[in-house]
Amino acid sequence: MSGSGQQRPSRRVTVIGAGIAGASVAWTLAERGWQVRVLEASRAGAGGSGNPVAILYPKLVAAAQTPLHLQSMAFLQALEILRDPRLAPHFRQTGVLWLDQRKQKADIGPDHPWWGEQVWRVDAAEASRLAGLPLPMSALWLPHAGVLRPAGLLAALLARPGITLVEGCPVHDLQPAADGWRLSTALGEEHADAVVLAHAGATGALHAGNDAGALPLKPVRGQVSLTPAGTQMLQTTLCYGGYLAPVADGGLCLGATFQPGRSDTDITHEDHLANARELEALLPALAAALPTPAIWQGRASLRWQTPDYLPLAGHLPWLPGARRTLAAQPPGARQPRWDDHAPLLASLGHGAKGFTQAWPVATLIADLLEEKTPVMPTALAERLRPDRFLLRDWRRGLFWRQPR
Ligand SMILES: Cc1cc2nc3c(=O)[nH]c(=O)nc-3n(C[C@H](O)[C@H](O)[C@H](O)COP(=O)(O)OP(=O)(O)OC[C@H]3O[C@@H](n4cnc5c(N)ncnc54)[C@H](O)[C@@H]3O)c2cc1C
Repeated sequence: MSGSGQQRPSRRVTVIGAGIAGASVAWTLAERGWQVRVLEASRAGAGGSGNPVAILYPKLVAAAQTPLHLQSMAFLQALEILRDPRLAPHFRQTGVLWLDQRKQKADIGPDHPWWGEQVWRVDAAEASRLAGLPLPMSALWLPHAGVLRPAGLLAALLARPGITLVEGCPVHDLQPAADGWRLSTALGEEHADAVVLAHAGATGALHAGNDAGALPLKPVRGQVSLTPAGTQMLQTTLCYGGYLAPVADGGLCLGATFQPGRSDTDITHEDHLANARELEALLPALAAALPTPAIWQGRASLRWQTPDYLPLAGHLPWLPGARRTLAAQPPGARQPRWDDHAPLLASLGHGAKGFTQAWPVATLIADLLEEKTPVMPTALAERLRPDRFLLRDWRRGLFWRQPR
């Protein structure tokens, strides 16, 4: 990767993938004056980012972990960005009630740095008042969390001047070239000065195969269920392991199944029933008041997840070159230096939280491309390094080929 430290004259970058990861990187760079070309295999929102609803909320952690917690940091940043009048219409601040339940009571209390401002506990009566229907349990209340309309948000992000979106353009391969990268796409070959991979995790050559050194991304299928328009009886969003959220058309969205290892995306009645059961286990009266699952609609798509559930964010070595480097270096020696090449960065593996955590990753990528000291704390950026699994495998001796 480029470590020259010199002023890079080009402010042109190609982003691969037009989900929330690619769109947030494109927006962030365009806001800083970059010319961004987004190559999308299908159409914006074709992948996990195309659900009818996405909930914007952090899964809170204990006070001591909060300062370096990606989701917490990401939530505050996303709220700030969504105040922009170009984006605000696509976010509805419904608030989120995180329902207390025996198996999963959130261990968050007055020692949490956000207590009283971003989060507090409400009793069952107050939770019921906020929700607009009877709830038999207390809850954590996150008044600033809410529901995004992904299609509108992606369209608004990608319509920003400075961004060119090319849909129907799968990128098949990427090779280092003089002063940049040569991309092989379905529409022909093209040059890129710098590349950001935001294709979630699916594709062959960009994924660099399944052998050691491939990007460690695994699919987790998920299906959301939608009740018909006009059935809404909820003023806020409920989270309970699953979630129940009001949709703009007056229906409700129940989410979401979590099926590791499956990569099919057909909508199934069984998954509607699974979403219904999750709600029924906690709120049987509410579940019984919904129309029959036989008439629900839905959408199934994939989350792409890493083994440690954190995204791959930042500079990525070109994987074939990195494998050769690691094969020539005994494990335990000093950390290998990757081959020099034009900038190649990743915003991949956002798992179940892309709409929140894509934002600090986009800022990190923009800072790195501009060779600025990243706003993200170094300790967190280190945890997200896209080469962390590659280096782990190297330390375990998976690459080293002893000379004969
Ligand atoms: C059922 C379900 C419910 C969810 N609910 C929430 C939620 O409430 N809140 C939340 O924050 N997150 C939620 N998530 C997770 C969230 O959807 C993902 O984290 C997010 O969409 C990931 O965004 P992405 O841009 O990385 O990937 P994607 O949205 O999958 O985008 C990747 C894009 O890259 C394109 N692409 C792939 N290969 C290539 C190629 N070779 N060349 C060019 N383009 C390519 C694809 O067509 C796609 O458009 C949910 C996920 C699921 C499945």
